[in-house]
Amino acid sequence: MSSRRPDLVVIGAGVVGLAVARAWVIRHPGHRVVVLEKEPAPGRHASGRNSGVLHAGFYYEPGSMKARFTREGNRQWQEFCSERGVRIRKTGKLLLATRPRNLEAFPLLLLRAHENGVPLREVSREEAREIQPRVQGQERALYSPETATLDPAEAVAGLVRDAKDRGVVIETGIGVTGVQKRRIRLSDGRRIEPGFIVNAAGLQADRVARWFGFSPDHRILPFRGNYLLSSNDQNPVRTCVYPVPDLARPFLGVHLTAGVDGREKIGPSARPALWREQYGGLRGFRPRETAEIGWRQLRLLVRNDFGFRSLARAALREGRHRMMVDRAADLISGVSPAHYTQWGRPGIRAQLVDIRKSRLETDFRIEGDEHSLHILNAVSPGFTCAFPFADYLVRRMESGTAGADGSRP
Ligand SMILES: Cc1cc2nc3c(=O)[nH]c(=O)nc-3n(C[C@H](O)[C@H](O)[C@H](O)COP(=O)(O)OP(=O)(O)OC[C@H]3O[C@@H](n4cnc5c(N)ncnc54)[C@H](O)[C@@H]3O)c2cc1C
Repeated sequence: MSSRRPDLVVIGAGVVGLAVARAWVIRHPGHRVVVLEKEPAPGRHASGRNSGVLHAGFYYEPGSMKARFTREGNRQWQEFCSERGVRIRKTGKLLLATRPRNLEAFPLLLLRAHENGVPLREVSREEAREIQPRVQGQERALYSPETATLDPAEAVAGLVRDAKDRGVVIETGIGVTGVQKRRIRLSDGRRIEPGFIVNAAGLQADRVARWFGFSPDHRILPFRGNYLLSSNDQNPVRTCVYPVPDLARPFLGVHLTAGVDGREKIGPSARPALWREQYGGLRGFRPRETAEIGWRQLRLLVRNDFGFRSLARAALREGRHRMMVDRAADLISGVSPAHYTQWGRPGIRAQLVDIRKSRLETDFRIEGDEHSLHILNAVSPGFTCAFPFADYLVRRMESGTAGADGSRP
């Protein structure tokens, strides 16, 4: 790092941190903007390990940040990908009602789509079959024409190129290990005092926020999502196919994604993880973190806060290979366990829990002051929202209201 004091340091080179750094430098040419990433390369966590779906924006409660940024985020990614040569596939999405009670969610989803200004329409079985011939016998379905897919790792690489071209410095293999007054400590022993600090540390964001005195009542509860990749290249799905979600739950349910490479995948499941970066087995075991998270999960199980018991039960059931395949087979024909023997790279959701009120946070959460801003709960559709969300954060930083109210806008 050059000796010039950075105007802005962003902690974390995921899609959100990179988008914030880019948005800042676009509006403040000549500023020195540095992104610090503890891993050897950007996008090694959620940003490079997600479904790669550019959501349309109909799931989210009108007025929430998710609702405000998803439609525009989808549009801006499409523009970015075509400018930067990143592959994108306009797949659309079908939501299939596999049980009669699923139909109860249709009016609310259609209303949210309308209020969020997002196209979504009900289609007949025949129409659904024209869109995706492998659709099973469902009577009714919803169709979202704006949903698209990309390869998240490719998209992050495009964002890294773009940010660097604009002068953003990205330092990899450098973690932020603590803070003292306004100076941050780096894993290589340096201490720096930037003009402003943005914490976009994903799974570690609550921890980093606490170093600065924020997020006292929130903890990240990690949920791992596994994927199964199809080995069958005959007639893969050409549209993303989702179940109708239970809107009381934080996740959208196991679905089929029509990948940008033409490949079909099933997932993600949603299993509580034992520590924040538990991608597989016991590799990288973190005993202290496991004890803390395990204790929190146990407490949630006992008290059954926000229906955690049934969430955990469903998550454990649906995370099994056979169950994931069965769930997908409920949606479309031609899904056979024999075609799904390969696991993809799992991703871990940085789901935030308000430990005082014992509830899951459903929207993005921002805390901060005139020196630092902390981005918490950047869960799905955080990838889709990245560009407009970053513009919004930058405007808040400029107006000195990064977290004037301590949390939300
Ligand atoms: C299974 C799964 C499926 C998803 N599917 C979709 C989808 O289809 N569409 C969609 O829009 N969204 C999806 N999402 C959500 C999306 O991936 C996230 O919202 C988004 O990637 C969050 O980006 P981020 O930059 O906040 O976090 P991350 O990508 O986690 O980046 C945070 C970075 O901070 C770094 N870091 C942490 N601590 C430090 C430190 N102390 N010092 C330096 N660096 C640090 C980490 O190494 C990491 O690179 C999905 C997420 C998951 C897990």
